[in-house]
Amino acid sequence: MSGPVTADDATADAACGAPDAETVEITESRESHVGAFAVRRALPRRGRRTVGAWCFVDHMGPAAITEDRGLDVAPHPHIGLQTVTWLFEGEAVHRDSLGTEQVISPGQLNLMTAGHGVAHSEEGTGSYRGNLQGVQLWVAQPSATRNGAPAFEHHGDLPRVDLDDAVATVLVGELDGVASPARRDTDHLGIDLDLRPGATTVPLRADFEHALVVFTGAVNIADQTVTPGHLAYLGLGREQITLSTVETSRALLFGGVPFDEPVLMWWNYVARDRQEIVQAHADWMAASERFGRVESTLPRIEIGPPPWTR
Ligand code: MN
Repeated sequence: MSGPVTADDATADAACGAPDAETVEITESRESHVGAFAVRRALPRRGRRTVGAWCFVDHMGPAAITEDRGLDVAPHPHIGLQTVTWLFEGEAVHRDSLGTEQVISPGQLNLMTAGHGVAHSEEGTGSYRGNLQGVQLWVAQPSATRNGAPAFEHHGDLPRVDLDDAVATVLVGELDGVASPARRDTDHLGIDLDLRPGATTVPLRADFEHALVVFTGAVNIADQTVTPGHLAYLGLGREQITLSTVETSRALLFGGVPFDEPVLMWWNYVARDRQEIVQAHADWMAASERFGRVESTLPRIEIGPPPWTR
């Protein structure tokens, strides 16, 4: 669940999309591919690069893992971001240049901090057969930590909050006084919502901007319906939101204090300017120690230089 970001996802300029007041703006996700898997990329988009510090959202699958076809995202680099991986179905193995090898299953969270540079792969377990479905998000790191050391965390058990007709799992941040143990370098929130038919009010922070992605079912906000393959941008200034469903549904609500630093994304890099990306990519292609080595049988992913240098 790497996310090669191209100019189709976000232009390489500073037009991030300023936060809006309370709103419900629904846009269609873009079909893309990561490894052999189809994904629905909800973020980034032209005109909306970030929601809080969240800068990338891929809904992956559901897709069948077979003997011939697995999740084979070969070793690739990252800088300046955290990857947040959360599965609904199936299993995968994370391997990184810190020496980590970690199986992830539904209900567990993998969080990798890239800082100045890290490399990882995301692969099948070799034994699992069945559907794989999940989400991978990226969080832009602030200047205070983005040039720091890489790190990895696995959380096998995350706190849950019972709401009206839903159970919220707090992946990152704090909901209703209940905090996730996951590392957080900015003030942001990510919750998985398991919604039963009915209506649920979720307490929010008015100084956050928020967005919602639906994975299964359909979620109504006021008179609008959000279905899989869409992003609902909810804006700033909400102290709560009421979500209603007529069928069992699953969604991710995420947000944060608007990210006030410029974000430039190309391929797997989150930076502030083009030169940082050019340097990172030169270091990756030269197999520099900056990104270390991933113990994987898959060959490292190598691609040409950024388009503006060609
Ligand atoms: Mn990745």
